Amino acid sequence: MEEYEALLDKMKIFEKTYDVMRIVDPLKKKVLEVRGNKVTASDTICHVFWEKDQLCDNCISMRAFNEYDTFFKMEYKNGNVFMVTAVPVKVKGQPVVVELLKNTSKSMLLGEKDSDGDVRILTMIDFVGQVAVRDPLTQLYNRRYIDERLPVEILNASLQNNPLSVIFADIDFFKKINDTYGHSAGDSVLRELSKALEGFMGKGRDWVARFGGEEFFICLPGSDLDAAREAAEKIRSGIEKMEFTAEDQRIRLTCSFGVHAICNGNECTTADSVIRMVDKHLYRAKNLGRNRIE
Ligand code: GH3
Ligand code: MG
Ligand code: MG
Repeated sequence: MEEYEALLDKMKIFEKTYDVMRIVDPLKKKVLEVRGNKVTASDTICHVFWEKDQLCDNCISMRAFNEYDTFFKMEYKNGNVFMVTAVPVKVKGQPVVVELLKNTSKSMLLGEKDSDGDVRILTMIDFVGQVAVRDPLTQLYNRRYIDERLPVEILNASLQNNPLSVIFADIDFFKKINDTYGHSAGDSVLRELSKALEGFMGKGRDWVARFGGEEFFICLPGSDLDAAREAAEKIRSGIEKMEFTAEDQRIRLTCSFGVHAICNGNECTTADSVIRMVDKHLYRAKNLGRNRIE
């Protein structure tokens, strides 16, 4: 672990300020624990510290890694509130993230005897964490979430030799819906459709995000191309049958879909190229007449 010597030297001045210092690989979610002058590889994944069995929605280490900037958030564990700082650094040219954790429960005066107050603070922390990764209109995950989560899904699929597919969905002639029924009716349609898309997701590891405007991105870890095509067909035919209501108007619509298998076995493409590819398939679906899957 000699490569960390210079970094550890710099981190020494934080020793008294922070309760936990660790070096994180935000893609693999691997952790090196820092104690004094030593780094030790931990066999747990970073989110295990928070006693979570799944990836953090609001992963600021991935954000620090992507944007090469420092990010902050609050998290909690066993009724203690932690301030988390994620600082991107390079070790021998390799980007990693230093996570600095400070238990702020005392300074925030969390009342031990006032459990209602604690619940309120914990609810607020959850809320703030979600704001960063949710789209305000539809409450689906936002574009930032795609940028932070997709690279991790790709790496996981590749390491575990699992398939991974994505679907891009775009409402057909949505501009006409706005023009005919008004922008706020259009907004209601987007909200209702988003709920429906979430309903189609089931309870597994699949997730759906609003890519922007009237475009939606669906990620299906564990699904190969055939399974993804089948999922897209279920969504396509489901939406075609739906009746949306906005301001006493009944609105019908269809969507077009692009489907792309990112990982088949351990052969994977990058997040950027997958978005380009699936967009290309969607474009084809539009050109070939809409309300279809390519
Ligand atoms: P196509 O079948 O080719 O996709 O046609 P389209 O009309 O759906 O696509 P186009 O890109 O021409 O128009 C998209 C429209 O979506 C235009 C834009 O005003 C509308 N839109 C984007 N975001 C929102 C939103 O948040 N609310 C509402 N009401 N409309 C939105
Ligand atoms: Mg459209
Ligand atoms: Mg569009």
